[in-house]
Amino acid sequence: MALVVYNTLSREKEPFVPLDPAHVRLYVCGPTVYDYVHIGNARPVVAFDVLYRLLKRHYPRVTYVRNITDIDDKIMARAAESGESIEALTRRTADAYQSDMRRLGALPPDVEPRATEYVAQMIAMIERLVANGHAYAADGHVLFSVPSMPDYGRLSRKPRDELIAGARVDVAPYKKDPADFVLWKPSADNQAGWPSPWGRGRPGWHIECSAMSGALLGETFDIHAGGLDLIFPHHENEIAQSRCAFGHGIMAKYWMHNGFLNISGEKMSKSLGNFLTVHELLEQYPGEVIRLLLLSAHYRQPLDFTPEGLQQAKATLDHWYNALRTSNPEPAGSVPRTVEEALSDDLNTPMAISALHQLKDPAELKAGARALGLLQQDPEAWFRWAPAGMSGPGDAEIEAAIAARQAARKAKNFKESDRIRDELKAQGVILEDGPKGTTWKRG
Ligand code: AMP
Ligand code: ZN
Repeated sequence: MALVVYNTLSREKEPFVPLDPAHVRLYVCGPTVYDYVHIGNARPVVAFDVLYRLLKRHYPRVTYVRNITDIDDKIMARAAESGESIEALTRRTADAYQSDMRRLGALPPDVEPRATEYVAQMIAMIERLVANGHAYAADGHVLFSVPSMPDYGRLSRKPRDELIAGARVDVAPYKKDPADFVLWKPSADNQAGWPSPWGRGRPGWHIECSAMSGALLGETFDIHAGGLDLIFPHHENEIAQSRCAFGHGIMAKYWMHNGFLNISGEKMSKSLGNFLTVHELLEQYPGEVIRLLLLSAHYRQPLDFTPEGLQQAKATLDHWYNALRTSNPEPAGSVPRTVEEALSDDLNTPMAISALHQLKDPAELKAGARALGLLQQDPEAWFRWAPAGMSGPGDAEIEAAIAARQAARKAKNFKESDRIRDELKAQGVILEDGPKGTTWKRG
């Protein structure tokens, strides 16, 4: 089935034609790690995980790289504030991020590079840019010279005055042009830094992704993705660096951007008090509920994240898991055509979800859901899920009560067996007697 994707570069839907069909290469910008990530950060991860799964079904080899930015001024500030070392802070928060994303059903990328492991490649790339006249050193900094690239700005399509204003560039005396951006900056003795031809310092943010994608995917590759906010300046500047260092007309052939996630109609922010981390949400809902809600809107549209949306996603998954409960079949061999068609049309996940609702055969439902990374659990485990900190009986206690009820029934002591059932019900556990014995769920 032909895949069509919306390319931000052309502002159009285009057929996906890989540079090398034997090896498709995808890069997604990952988070800066200094705290738990918020639910907005999970949107690109989940949306482009669906893309990764789709590409893997259609091509023999796919390399997916998603980086971790583990050097940044926000990280340095947080470490200085708390006294934790940068190394410990970024390890701890990157581990939490990886575990949270796994719990959202995202497949691990093939490579998850940390920026600090690629400083040598960043320096080499900056040296190349200086050597070929696209960058200059000034005052311990190295800057990319925007006027040196005649077609700078093709991705964001910003006119020059907006480029300057939009970049929120401080007027720095060492800049030859106000639009020039930092590739390398000096570090004070008490700041993280690496030796370089321009003195001890650290990389700018944009050069990190150019160096990591260049090292792991090559000088040109197929798809580069991330959130809408990254189009300018981050992706525009990545393109400038990679194209000018490597001398190609493109960096990536297709640029894909997800829309923003809002909370109950408002922009998420710490000051509004509506800031939701994935970590805390996962204590209240199973990962698949959060994932289904994230996929319920098309990835390019804004997504409104609401408590009602979570309840609805939970109800949908309960319904689907119920359909699997009696037979729990192996997934069908291939993804049902209606689901594959929807996903092949620029990842139309809302359409794919409605196609899932039409499927009658549980084996097909399972295969279709797998394309979305859903229904990946054992149905019984699904119904036993409990939020963190929930009071009430644990699984073993419930199993013991069910066994006691069974014994009472066998002894025809129905008063006792009903008592046990009612007691469990009062504790939020519902028993269901079926042909295969008694199953239970937390209601
Ligand atoms: P950051 O750590 O801020 O660079 O963000 C990591 C990824 O999350 C980037 O691809 C951002 O575009 C994306 N992102 C950040 N906030 C949101 C949001 N509210 N909705 C959707 N995506 C977001
Ligand atoms: Zn990036």
